[in-house]
Amino acid sequence: GLSHATPRFPARHHGRAHMEPSSVQSTPARSGGSRYSLSGRGISSSSFSRVTRGISAMNHEFSVEVPQFELVDDPLFWNYHNVQVLIRIRPLSTIERVSQGYARCLRQESSQTLVWLGHPETRFTFDDVACETISQEKLFRVAGLPMVENCLSGYNSCMFAYGQTGSGKTYTMMGEINEVEGKLSEDCGITPRIFEYLFSRIRTEEENRREERLKFSCKCSFLEIYNEQITDLLEPSSTNLQLREDLKKGVYVENLTEYNVTTVNDVLDLLVEGAANRKMAATNMNSESSRSHSVFTCIIESQWEKDSMTHFRFARLNLVDLAGSERQKSSGAEGDRLKEAANINKSLSTLGMVIMSLVDLAHGKHRHVPYRDSRLTFLLQDSLGGNSKTTIIANVSPSNCSANETLSTLKFAQRAKLIQNDAKVNE
Ligand code: ADP
Ligand code: MG
Repeated sequence: GLSHATPRFPARHHGRAHMEPSSVQSTPARSGGSRYSLSGRGISSSSFSRVTRGISAMNHEFSVEVPQFELVDDPLFWNYHNVQVLIRIRPLSTIERVSQGYARCLRQESSQTLVWLGHPETRFTFDDVACETISQEKLFRVAGLPMVENCLSGYNSCMFAYGQTGSGKTYTMMGEINEVEGKLSEDCGITPRIFEYLFSRIRTEEENRREERLKFSCKCSFLEIYNEQITDLLEPSSTNLQLREDLKKGVYVENLTEYNVTTVNDVLDLLVEGAANRKMAATNMNSESSRSHSVFTCIIESQWEKDSMTHFRFARLNLVDLAGSERQKSSGAEGDRLKEAANINKSLSTLGMVIMSLVDLAHGKHRHVPYRDSRLTFLLQDSLGGNSKTTIIANVSPSNCSANETLSTLKFAQRAKLIQNDAKVNE
């Protein structure tokens, strides 16, 4: 039991997400517009050469012609692959538009292929490419919903958001967490939507299998890894938590608080609280939250009776918002600062190495997989090449401004696609 506290944030009644709330006025967007809308406030329309349409009563709004593709929504995907890699392209930001106009470093060619337009032009294929206009709801349907189904069937499931700072990782995983009249808002990310769906599925399953006395229980925790230290985001005085390994439990975090959750509201409360603590911890340490990894975990247990036996099943759901993948500058740092700079991205660089080793393994080469070299990879070893179905959402900006970071994200995502997990039902 958690108390309900709504509304969490001032509810936004107006339209779709706009980029960078601080610099773009949130204005009522045209409803039913098939493209995202950009408020042209302060910039005259003539400075956009590829504006195609749109003037609202209140404000100028512009749409830009970029080919759009639906996501491939393959309900059987998880039957034959355990690792799913998706790219999500976010819309151009105001700053990008101002500095580079509409120059893009990406051209999408189909629901699964993307061309990076630098030198040399490079074509990539993924399980799915979410173009700039794909809604939070649609992305959830394709990437989040199957994870819930996996968990209900007893498979561990893990989602990672990867990408440079500002590419949309947190928007994708969390979005703007609020509800309007008991419904999640359009900007809500995958995590709140996952739990909304999970609890509705649990209700139906329990109802349908009443004679088996099927019962589910869910408990959640929320942690942050910064500078190779684990902090409990739901109990921020608990810092420097330790990882332990147990034959039955697997790898777990000692003394991490867990909350039983029974409604989507319970989860939203935890998400909001954790997000606030994440920010606080970051400013205390005089750093940016872009350098920390956050892991929201839910353990879903079920039990039922059949043939006069009690059956148990459990699944772990990990939702991971990774630190920004851009290279950290450590120039000029000495002593503790230097150590910090080296540690900050240790988890991320080890993640890259673990993936490379796993790819080698998948190709029959004998390799040691350095799971234990960082907190993140140790904690999530089951989700990488292990007993889990894994979804990686690689977030990119389409702008020329970040062409190089975008390329390195696409390469990372392509490598990750070659991992082979060995997912098994936990019974
Ligand atoms: P990251 O977590 O990778 O640093 P954010 O999720 O904070 O990046 O995104 C940076 C900015 O871009 C935020 O203002 C966010 O609201 C906006 N944004 C990101 N992705 C989208 C998207 N798909 N649609 C609309 N706005 C987005
Ligand atoms: Mg973020």
